[in-house]
Amino acid sequence: MASEAWIGETLAPLAAKSLERRPGVYPQAGGKIVVDGRPILNFSSNDYLDLAGRPEMIAASREALERYGCGATASRLVCGTLDLHRELEEALAALKGYPRALLFGSGFLTNVGLIPALVGREDHVFADKLVHASIIDGILLSRANLQRFRHNDAEHLESLLRKCPAGGRRLVVTESVFSMDGDLAPLPAITEAAVRHGAMCMVDEAHSTGIFGPGGSGLVREHALEDGVNVSMGTLSKALGGYGGFVACSEALVRLLLNRTRAFIYTTGLPPAVVGGGLAALRLLGEEAELGTRLLANAAAFRQRLQDAGLDTGGSQSQIVPVIIGENRKALEATERLKAKGLLAVAIRPPTVPEGTARLRLSVTLAHTPEDLQWAAEQVIETVAEVK
Ligand code: PMP
Repeated sequence: MASEAWIGETLAPLAAKSLERRPGVYPQAGGKIVVDGRPILNFSSNDYLDLAGRPEMIAASREALERYGCGATASRLVCGTLDLHRELEEALAALKGYPRALLFGSGFLTNVGLIPALVGREDHVFADKLVHASIIDGILLSRANLQRFRHNDAEHLESLLRKCPAGGRRLVVTESVFSMDGDLAPLPAITEAAVRHGAMCMVDEAHSTGIFGPGGSGLVREHALEDGVNVSMGTLSKALGGYGGFVACSEALVRLLLNRTRAFIYTTGLPPAVVGGGLAALRLLGEEAELGTRLLANAAAFRQRLQDAGLDTGGSQSQIVPVIIGENRKALEATERLKAKGLLAVAIRPPTVPEGTARLRLSVTLAHTPEDLQWAAEQVIETVAEVK
């Protein structure tokens, strides 16, 4: 169609730079899948604790589905709040060590909804240089003045806060485990800077929830920072094996969000099966407290093997282990070669990561045995040597 000629013109330069994206289609999800009759070790799934397929999760989802039906049938403030939503919110608040929690449609919607409720045009946001796209979109939507501090640099944050003009609210935002680097934020120093300068502090715990901290509560709780961190944001879609986002925070903040957050108010409540699955995931975390620790030990051994072979795993200290390659084309080539060997490790390219740092983002999960990880490390080492 002539009126859509601009679309081809927009996409052509992306294709030329190996940057056009298309989803692969898979017959299964999880850390070990079978594609066209061939077993594949999947290092691109965020089902870190291998919970998504657990019979307990499936049974709880099915039970909720059969009891409540397929949908919540309305937005939460109309009649879409079921007792099940409330139960999951109470369990999340207890896990995180906050008075209250509030569910959202997804982690992305949580960030996009939360930030404009906290700050507006007259206010200032200080965000780590590498925060997730959903945080950036939330900030843009808030129209607050945005300043980025150097990645994981609390001193730089401190100096920006010091120079910030008086007036307006201030909000500091970081992730606790960074999604594409697997490194950890210096949360105590960041929180201290925020508190010292009278700023609110928000931490995105998408990749630490379920894994770090006592009982999988995350890094805010591990460092006992609940008093300085106003909002701990999380998602059910990664280690918890399901779907949906949430915040844990004070009673006052929940009351504000219920009245101000458009991404909460004007959308349908999470479906019952998803909420039932979330509750089952939290029960499993409570019963199997060693899951996160075991995952981190497996990931550390895997990362060490890659480092011993001279690969660049950046600052990874978690289950997310990047292998930084640099050129987009080489990263794509590595992905293709690994796929042929039976290992799925999707290449991550700009703008998701900075220019010149295209990488394989390897997620270690509990679906991978120590033997699987040994084999996988050998394949990655060999393949990166082939494409370099
Ligand atoms: N925050 C971070 C740091 C993430 O990595 C993601 C998912 N990629 C999200 C938020 C969004 O979570 P969800 O997938 O539940 O929308």
